[in-house]
Amino acid sequence: MENNHVTVLEINLNAIDFNFNYFKSKLHKKTKVLTVIKAFGYGCGSIEIAKFLESKADYYAVAYLDEGIALRNAGIKTPIIILHPQKNNLQKIVEYQLEPNIYSINLLKSFVEDAKQLKLQNYPFHLKFNTGLNRLGFSNDEILEISSTVNNQKELFIKSVFSHIAASEDLNEREFTLQQINTFNSLSKELISQLNNNPFKHMLNTSGILNYASEAQFDMVRLGIGLYGFGNDEKETTNLKNVVTLRSVISQIHTVQEGETVGYNRAFKATSTVKTATIPIGYADGISTQFSNGVGYVYINNQKAAIIGNICMDMLMVNVSDINCNEGDEVLIYKNQQHIEALAKAINTIPYELLTSISQRVKRVLKQC
Ligand SMILES: *Cc1c(COP(=O)(O)O)cnc(C)c1O
Repeated sequence: MENNHVTVLEINLNAIDFNFNYFKSKLHKKTKVLTVIKAFGYGCGSIEIAKFLESKADYYAVAYLDEGIALRNAGIKTPIIILHPQKNNLQKIVEYQLEPNIYSINLLKSFVEDAKQLKLQNYPFHLKFNTGLNRLGFSNDEILEISSTVNNQKELFIKSVFSHIAASEDLNEREFTLQQINTFNSLSKELISQLNNNPFKHMLNTSGILNYASEAQFDMVRLGIGLYGFGNDEKETTNLKNVVTLRSVISQIHTVQEGETVGYNRAFKATSTVKTATIPIGYADGISTQFSNGVGYVYINNQKAAIIGNICMDMLMVNVSDINCNEGDEVLIYKNQQHIEALAKAINTIPYELLTSISQRVKRVLKQC
């Protein structure tokens, strides 16, 4: 598609490579790395990233079936885990050679039935334990039923067992996290002792790798936000390279006189003469209206320009009274990780949400220098 849009999300592939290697360097040589590319690769482009990392990533994971199908249709051959499948997805999962996360007895029985119908032989799936997040996963009292169901058939086998930490970034929750790790250790040991094969194990997400690599590295880690440049704490982030830059331009400059207002509902009222710039990006592009009225800011010619008035669907206005700038000048909506972290904090959210909210209308441009 031709880019007729001046607002672009630039993705720096070299930075992705750097960040991947950074996390890899924290791990034992033989530890596998699964790269999480759900939600369009955290907004950065799942297909592009999957292609770029194909020789490095041992595994990919996405949340939903559709996301996995898109990767297979793009020619990605790496094993892909579907983290959150539903019963009616299982046939398609097999058709596209995807590997489901099975998280309940219900889903397990349904998959076994489908597998018999499809006459599968030794098809892999992954099994998730709930160790305290209370989101998805089997509990300790279901182990016997899992093993008897699995041992009673030849169509499927458990390729890995895993769990997910609730607060891996929060060292105040270290005790709880160590308890989760212990629980996972004992649940997986108990299950595996009842199986005819030996599945591999994994537990750590990005901040898990940073905080618990010695306690819970197991055989694989699941790298998400770190790949995209965020360490879940400002200090860790400085060790990573910036992946995402959201760029636009100034469409028009206005001089607003004292007593005049800017934008819908006249939310900004000028108490003196103000120079404003109108930028072609709005809430339909994923810039939250919570950034309205001075909560958010952009960079123009290296200076901060506060958002003025209410953000519109397709544009927003900023205060450029003290900035030497012209129509057509570049605007950085998201300059770098530090800018994104500060903006996320200002509206009580996290960089994950800002990245994944950038809508598909914003053209993605890959940069590799
Ligand atoms: C999203 C997700 C991850 C990645 O987490 P990050 O904090 O982005 O590294 C890992 N595991 C599971 C099960 C997930 O859902």
